[in-house]
Amino acid sequence: MVKQAVKVVVRARPTANFASKNIKIDPLTGTIALNIDKKDEGTVNNQLDSWKFKFDKILQNSSQDEVYEAAAQETVQSVVQGYNGTILCYGQTGAGKTFTMTGSSTNFSYRGVIPRAISQVFREVGNKFDQAITIRMFDLLSPIPTHEQQASHLQIQDDSRGGVAIKNLSMIVCNQEEDALNQLFEGDMNRTVSEHQLNKASSRSHCVFTIHIESRSRVESSDKVLFSKLHLVDLAGSERTKKTGSSGITLKEATFINKSLSFLEQVVIALCDKSRDHVPYRQSKLTNLLRDSLGGNCKTLMIANIWPEPTHLEETVSTLKFATRMMRV
Ligand code: ADP
Ligand code: MG
Repeated sequence: MVKQAVKVVVRARPTANFASKNIKIDPLTGTIALNIDKKDEGTVNNQLDSWKFKFDKILQNSSQDEVYEAAAQETVQSVVQGYNGTILCYGQTGAGKTFTMTGSSTNFSYRGVIPRAISQVFREVGNKFDQAITIRMFDLLSPIPTHEQQASHLQIQDDSRGGVAIKNLSMIVCNQEEDALNQLFEGDMNRTVSEHQLNKASSRSHCVFTIHIESRSRVESSDKVLFSKLHLVDLAGSERTKKTGSSGITLKEATFINKSLSFLEQVVIALCDKSRDHVPYRQSKLTNLLRDSLGGNCKTLMIANIWPEPTHLEETVSTLKFATRMMRV
């Protein structure tokens, strides 16, 4: 079986400095060229570092609708057809991960990938008259335990079908799109923290929203049930430890986050290396949670969010390097 590569799409957030001489983005050829002038940073041997990257798709000045169509739609469709899937947003804090994933709850055209995926799932499921389909979400509206409780509280376990389950997080049936959207947006608001705190929290933690689909044939009399799920992941900020002060993350936290992102990378690399039969899922909670939804027959999409301002050149290079490694595997 040919192991499937991760589909990688780059999204550049709008900035005031698009005309920067140090970064050239060409969506038509899918290339990004960057120059870091070491002289600007006070290095004596005025060295110029330059990089050139090539991607299947670069989205610049794209609407939420365009991003969804170009990147996510296909993945969501295969989940409705019975495959497991994962969509991840990767990038430094401020690069637009949450805008891409969640977007606005009030402005319809600014809705992100998750609410659009919910709409698509309900729309496509509504058209399948020969299937009885149940859609479930984790119940995010019941009182959420404190951070410390959560750590010991929410344990990732194997379920009876060889998949992954989370102990102490119950599932609810969503009969209509609104039920699912409530889970997303009310669940967000259920965390009684200020926007600033929320931003800080989302820089440090991975947010995972999962849609579970169960489908049985109405026409055949077999008991065959098809289960599939879609994980929508807003990853923790990928900024290197050097920059942590600006995003309010301590050095210890940054080291931990970088480790967890590198475990994710190791898993994806192992999945696509045909000569390896061990995939190191158990190294982190995130990879453990995603273990039945990455690689193999699963559809994996990574959106690399970049902030193409001169002050973020190094972070941009680091994000594009990560995205390139994901693509090569
Ligand atoms: P992250 O989650 O990666 O830290 P955010 O999604 O919170 O970043 O984005 C930072 C800010 O930039 C937010 O105010 C967001 O609304 C804005 N932003 C990001 N991407 C876009 C975009 N493509 N169009 C308009 N505003 C954006
Ligand atoms: Mg965010």
